Amino acid sequence: MRIAIAPSPLQLIDDAWLRDMGMQLYLKRDDLLNPTVQGNKWRKLKYNLLRAQELGKDTLLTFGGPYSNHIYATAAAARLFGFNSIGIIRGEEPKDKSYTLKFAASQGMQLVYIDRTTYRNKDDENYLHQLQLQYPNAYIVPEGGTNQYALRGVAELVQEIDVPFNYLCSACGTGGTLAGMVAGLKGEKQLIGFSSLKGDDALTEQIDKLVQGYAGESYKNYSVNFGYHFGGYAKVKPELTDFIKAFKKQHNVQLEPVYTGKMLFGIYDLLKQGYFPKGSTIIAVHTGGLQGLSGYKDWFPDVASEFVE
Ligand SMILES: *Cc1c(COP(=O)(O)O)cnc(C)c1O
Repeated sequence: MRIAIAPSPLQLIDDAWLRDMGMQLYLKRDDLLNPTVQGNKWRKLKYNLLRAQELGKDTLLTFGGPYSNHIYATAAAARLFGFNSIGIIRGEEPKDKSYTLKFAASQGMQLVYIDRTTYRNKDDENYLHQLQLQYPNAYIVPEGGTNQYALRGVAELVQEIDVPFNYLCSACGTGGTLAGMVAGLKGEKQLIGFSSLKGDDALTEQIDKLVQGYAGESYKNYSVNFGYHFGGYAKVKPELTDFIKAFKKQHNVQLEPVYTGKMLFGIYDLLKQGYFPKGSTIIAVHTGGLQGLSGYKDWFPDVASEFVE
């Protein structure tokens, strides 16, 4: 099995306002890596797929909620690379499956619903041991795909950047993606993660632990910003949807409201506040997630029609 990931394009955001401020903003278009296994989920799965093969496993088993981009990506990647897949889904089986779950099922993923209390054990050693006994041929990938193999895949992203820069920004869920970039940059430059969830220092500690585990070192050149979650995961506000619409109109780049929209809203807001020194070059990673837009009609019925074609 060979998995080649071609470097994703780096796109300069041409904006008079940015030029006047002497700033350069680039988008690292990981959303263009693969149409179904998008963005950071693809990078995070790469070495997990190779590891699963090395261990002789024929099944990928992972965890997620009914709207999880990771579930979507794992189902698609399993299908592409000839694995079976099992998705342990948080909560009761819904009467109407979300777009994500329908897609996962269409890729042959076996969906197993577990109650929210049991789901909280998803990282518990004993629970995972039980699952492994139940599914001996399964390679278990944690929620969000975040583990050491994920960091290795994401770390490759920073090698692809061929312009000088000062800041590297990413949206943050579990923090695995930011951790991979921190590991890849080895203490160079500044990194900012924009949390999509109401979070706290526990996320920063988790990122530090991941980086430590992978690189054997701790770096201090990153921070997680909790100022732009808009009320929490999958919560939106009109100013966010307006921003996403305006960004698309001006730059012809589609963002989504869960991760990349919040990150870019945050970057623009920090720019307005003068957070970045004049002359800075900022690279924002478009981590993808656009396949999720098709599901937003049932997820955000009030606002989806405003920014999804
Ligand atoms: C999952 C996801 C993230 C968050 O990645 P983590 O590694 O969990 O922090 C960011 N952007 C998009 C589009 C995602 O799907």
